[in-house]
Amino acid sequence: MTASAPLAARGISDRVSRFTESVIREMTRLAMEHNAINLAQGFPDFPAPDFIKEAAIRAIRGDVNQYAVTWGDPELRQAIAAKYQRWYGLDLDPNRHVTVCCGATEAMISVLMAVLNPGDETVIFEPFYENYGPDTILSGAVPRFVPLRFSSSGWHFDRAELAAAFNSRTRAIIINSPNNPTGKVFSRGELECIRDLCLQWDCLAITDEIYEHILYEGRRHIPLAGLEGMAERTITISGISKTFSVTGWRIGWALAPERLAGGIRKVHDFLTVGAPAPLQLAAAQAMNQGDEYCRGLAGEYAARRDRLVPQLQACGLACAPPEGAYYVMADVAPFLPRHGANGDEFARWLVREIGIATVPGASFYQSPEKGQFQIRFCYPKTASTLDAAALRLANLRP
Ligand code: GLN
Repeated sequence: MTASAPLAARGISDRVSRFTESVIREMTRLAMEHNAINLAQGFPDFPAPDFIKEAAIRAIRGDVNQYAVTWGDPELRQAIAAKYQRWYGLDLDPNRHVTVCCGATEAMISVLMAVLNPGDETVIFEPFYENYGPDTILSGAVPRFVPLRFSSSGWHFDRAELAAAFNSRTRAIIINSPNNPTGKVFSRGELECIRDLCLQWDCLAITDEIYEHILYEGRRHIPLAGLEGMAERTITISGISKTFSVTGWRIGWALAPERLAGGIRKVHDFLTVGAPAPLQLAAAQAMNQGDEYCRGLAGEYAARRDRLVPQLQACGLACAPPEGAYYVMADVAPFLPRHGANGDEFARWLVREIGIATVPGASFYQSPEKGQFQIRFCYPKTASTLDAAALRLANLRP
């Protein structure tokens, strides 16, 4: 097609035509349309803590209105480095390793575009957070999926199957622990197995740790970058969205070895110039003061989990209690075909007829049929929202 073809005849790029619209955001739109309780898109319906809001107000009143340094306000980069030292004993140089981005989402695409070449492969556990597939495609690389399988003891991968996914084209593995959508927390043994494969195949680990403070039953977060041999080959992504209940502020970061950080900063610069300046300052102050708050987070989310998960199980939606994060994948097979031919139709029925929005499991799989009997619920919601959802669920029978 030539550049002079009529506008209407010109289509979207081949690249973009290879992926679909985000189902998570579509379900939020459907929730609003049907006045349903939104247990689809994972964001809190309760306020952010006062100390972070006050810090943002101070920054705006203080006229922090112009671009921050592209790769992050120095105060925030310093606060991030200090936090990783305090919590995990990791040594980061704010000037060499830290890039502040517009949320972990932008950090992930910036990282992938900075490190992947066309034809490179990434290894991704499936089900996966829906961005990783399109992100890899936008970077010109080829994703290889390794299944996480559900059993009554949780979600597990087969080590031989994981090993078989690596080859000489593998450039990186993408890990998300605590995991969206399964609630899995990768054990130290599992992380060591991943580390050994990264060393064997000389590839990178890109680890999305956005739920790092939401782990249950006393589990402690283990950053992959802290495992022996991994500091030089791990890019750690996280942010304040989930920890401080400010998903709309769009403040996240990528922590990378110096040889990679320069590339990540270039992509980030040309994509967005920088993250919101006053909110970066607020993030810095929150991180400096927020340790006690962070320590309390898991207990609050455990209470929310324990409000929702038994209700799901009671109405016949089998699921494993999450070990971390704030999502649970439930098996809808007993409700089919009465309420739809698959999870996608069931989720659309559920939002329309019962008034609860969820995300069809298929959107977390490369081949939709693999997730056709699942839907994902999220629970970063107040007790009254979860109780209202429980009342609606009481009408549900297989
Ligand atoms: N991480 C959240 C989820 O999985 C929000 C995703 C989004 O809409 N950016 O629901």
